[in-house]
Amino acid sequence: MMKRPMDAPTHKKSKLIDGWEVVIGMEVHAQVTSKAKLFSGASTAFGGEPNSHVSLVDAAAPGMLPVINAECVRQAVRTGIGLKARINLKSVFDRKNYFYPDLPQGYQISQYKSPIVGEGEVLVDMPDGETVRVGIERLHLEQDAGKSLHDQNAAMSLVDLNRSGVGLMEIVTKPDLRSADEAKAFLGKLRTILRYLGTCDGDMEKGNLRADVNVSVRKPGASLGTRCEIKNLNSIRFIGQAIEHEARRQIEIIEDGGAIEQKTRLFDPDKGETRSMRSKEEAHDYRYFPDPDLLPLELSPSLVADLQAHLPELPDEKKARFMRYYALSGYDAGVLVAERATAAFFEALINGGEGKRDPKLAANWVINELTGRLNKEGKDITASPVSDAQLGAVLDLIAEGTISGKIAKDVFEIVWNEGGDPRAIVEARGLEQVSDLAALEKLVDGIITANPDKVGDVRGNPKALGWFVGQVMKASGGKANPQAVNDLLKKRIGV
Ligand code: ADP
Ligand code: MG
Repeated sequence: MMKRPMDAPTHKKSKLIDGWEVVIGMEVHAQVTSKAKLFSGASTAFGGEPNSHVSLVDAAAPGMLPVINAECVRQAVRTGIGLKARINLKSVFDRKNYFYPDLPQGYQISQYKSPIVGEGEVLVDMPDGETVRVGIERLHLEQDAGKSLHDQNAAMSLVDLNRSGVGLMEIVTKPDLRSADEAKAFLGKLRTILRYLGTCDGDMEKGNLRADVNVSVRKPGASLGTRCEIKNLNSIRFIGQAIEHEARRQIEIIEDGGAIEQKTRLFDPDKGETRSMRSKEEAHDYRYFPDPDLLPLELSPSLVADLQAHLPELPDEKKARFMRYYALSGYDAGVLVAERATAAFFEALINGGEGKRDPKLAANWVINELTGRLNKEGKDITASPVSDAQLGAVLDLIAEGTISGKIAKDVFEIVWNEGGDPRAIVEARGLEQVSDLAALEKLVDGIITANPDKVGDVRGNPKALGWFVGQVMKASGGKANPQAVNDLLKKRIGV
């Protein structure tokens, strides 16, 4: 890796690599959540026996005619609204012609000149506080292809058509992204929006969400450079690695006096590098023309209005509401709304119980303790062993001073492993915080008598008091009320 020269601008937010600006645009394929395929009634279920979810339409038997699945159309419109995009009341299905063994029709039905959704935008919050606005160029509906299997039989390749004809939304961004981190954050945000809408499950491991990434480099202020497209990335981590590698590869070529050829490339996760796949195809290579078996798709304004009216609260709106209602920081609110189920758990938690619970305390517990524990065991919050009511009871015990924050973590752990009512657990195991002055005085005096030299230290440097607090807490098994201990120690030592 080349070093940045010492005199180059070093402002914190610079995204340049050795003085070069990276420009990225993405084409995301999101599988439409629907029971049936885009133009047939066959099931979209994942993981069936090969060729068990294939209708005659998907197998391209002669004379079969496609029929548009209205639910896929509604899902595309919902997604378009969620992307703050223009919905086109008239769109057209085209044939994109190419040959491949897992594409029995010899063409893919897609949308070319007239997509169902036009320009929109996605706002992406970066960890440093910057909000990046990513323009959406379009969203169109198209069919997925089948799958060629090359490792099942020594003598031949096999084809599984279960995926053939499944509905995809291709979402194309403008070249608005400027770093691998921005591209990764964009895909994370897009995934959150799709999952809120329920229009794509966002499962990248199953290939239900995957991205082609276009990368070019230029000097700041110059016009766009020639791009390469890296195909079919199915993890957010790979997207970051592929962009970093590709940008550095291009910079090296240009700095050595070469020129970038517009190529389609593949990312090799084992080597962490991209390699050439084929020269870039042009639209005319595909001989696009309107599919004569399908009429143009026309939507009524009332259908769009109805879908709009029934949309759930989306992540940006929820985040703003959490900041406003609960006085949370942008960071906390952003973490809580990233998954709809987490936001729902948080709201059930603070609104449960008698009085309203403290949102900041609740946010800390959900973001740190609960999420940390769930991640450790690879569990989803919907399957959390600690319910919102149980965590709420722990928060109530802290708020009323019955247990310390430290003991609360132990109680949480007990509830996680054994279940049960936190209050009953605290009573049965005698975990209540000790605020009783007589009991605390005995502990404090014991520690002071045993450590006369340390008492001298504290008189010289009151900050050394912390050592005594720690000793008393330890002697109490973590149950002493730290504030009461602190006050007592000061009085006894006279600082
Ligand atoms: P094509 O039709 O050849 O795929 P598009 O114009 O539709 O090309 O662009 C495809 C993607 O490439 C879009 O996401 C777009 O933002 C991105 N893109 C276009 N030009 C550049 C560039 N110079 N550098 C990086 N990305 C680009
Ligand atoms: Mg393209």
